[in-house]
Amino acid sequence: ALQSPTGPAASREAIRFGDLSLPDDGLSLTYGELAAASAALAARIADAGRVAVWATPTAATVIAVVASLRAGVPVVPLNPRIGERELAHILADSEPTAVLAGPDDELPPALEKLRRVTVDARAVAGSAAAASTVPEGYEAGPEEYGAGEADPEAAALIVYTSGTTGPPKGAVLPRRAVAASLDALEDAWGWTADDVLVHALPLFHVHGLILGVLGPLRRGGSLRHLGKFSPGAVARELASGGTMLFGVPTMYHRLAEVLDAPAGGAERDALAGALAGARLLVSGSAALPVHDHERIAAAAGRRVIERYGMTETLMNTGIRADGVPRPGSVGPPLAGVELRLVEEDGSVLSGPEAIGEIQVRGPNLFTEYLNRPDATAAAHTEDGWFRTGDVGTVDEDGYVTIVGRKATDLIKSGGYKIGAGEIENILLAHPGVREAAVTGEADPDLGERVVAWVVAADPGSPPPAEELADHVAAQLAPHKRPRTVHYLDALPRNDLGKIMKRSLHAR
Ligand code: ATP
Ligand code: MG
Repeated sequence: ALQSPTGPAASREAIRFGDLSLPDDGLSLTYGELAAASAALAARIADAGRVAVWATPTAATVIAVVASLRAGVPVVPLNPRIGERELAHILADSEPTAVLAGPDDELPPALEKLRRVTVDARAVAGSAAAASTVPEGYEAGPEEYGAGEADPEAAALIVYTSGTTGPPKGAVLPRRAVAASLDALEDAWGWTADDVLVHALPLFHVHGLILGVLGPLRRGGSLRHLGKFSPGAVARELASGGTMLFGVPTMYHRLAEVLDAPAGGAERDALAGALAGARLLVSGSAALPVHDHERIAAAAGRRVIERYGMTETLMNTGIRADGVPRPGSVGPPLAGVELRLVEEDGSVLSGPEAIGEIQVRGPNLFTEYLNRPDATAAAHTEDGWFRTGDVGTVDEDGYVTIVGRKATDLIKSGGYKIGAGEIENILLAHPGVREAAVTGEADPDLGERVVAWVVAADPGSPPPAEELADHVAAQLAPHKRPRTVHYLDALPRNDLGKIMKRSLHAR
């Protein structure tokens, strides 16, 4: 039931990058062209033990990753904006023998030692040669994109975690996990070959690459990558055939700002109409602020649904397409995923009042952290559950709410456990606040005290600390009141827009 019965026709569009209406911008490949290009490339890299992909948001990256899966060569997607130190760490750790990159990509010196394999997507597009090499009746079977005849336990991808809580670790993802997670999303979202995904995420994380690229290909649907996110481009693609949008909270925040603009005019109306017509608006990678969720619901009549995943586990939970979206909740566990909450002493918790570490088990899990048996062992319990490091609650209906990360978002103050996210949501609803983060700081009396980091909507007149603290205390319990408010010009964020609380603490 979880395998698509037939693949798409070779002539069907598989991927599109940029704006096709602009000369020199858009590039579209059919399933036939993608199959031909990836088969040719697979032959060229068949002998490579492991390859790296310079994962720009381009068709070349898609061809490179699909070719690696076809060749059975584990692929390490690299962030093209990566710093030298982090790149050196990933190369030394993952030891690729070749790097796959577009013809115009300038690679940093650290990659010059590797065999460079050029992937020219423009040469494939519309070429008669590509069409003629497609076997008669070619159907892109699910096997190319994550399962099939190859050993299901063989490493398909090695994806480095975002580095939010420490140096990135390489999660070894077998074909089995990729297939299981994508099929669970098919089940939850009724994802079909008719879906056209509007995509603006980077292609070196699980969200943009596995969900955003391998997801549509496995279903035989298509994706349109905007290259660079903009509310206008989102509106354009959703209004011209796009059915789903995958984004991170910072993108939905920008959409909410456009929808909310006092003199929004035509841009606002076009966006509201486009969002209203979409089949599914999905947010993940970090918590979607309730304020932004509500603003989009009010302006476009659409509720963004959240899903919760990690590099190591792929997707764990998600609101179903036919489910009831609840602002602030990431929904029930996906098909095949077991989820439990665990107390610090290891006891398993139950009941809607329980707050504990989320642990998961299922076919969606990674095999190990590359070269890190210590970290792999530490991340698992004796009975095989993966410790996510996230803290959450589960309500009577099985809906999971993420309280935050154990390390940075759970504040223990005066005998209470306080989740940073709840306070952040209240601060963000204050008209004078544009961005907010909450952390705990050591306190001799309370153990820890609540500290807020705020970016003011108008930097010229930030709301006074006392007013913000009262605003929180009026809506939440008094012990959740921020004791200190720091004002910043911007919050430190990574390329997925995740707040780097580690560097807040270092300030
Ligand atoms: P590192 O593990 O290197 O510190 P990271 O945990 O940010 O970085 P990822 O694997 O990309 O790396 O992110 C997974 C984390 O993102 C989850 O553990 C969770 O904290 C957070 N996350 C993902 N989706 C959601 C969501 N819908 N709501 C809240 N948090 C989310
Ligand atoms: Mg993590």
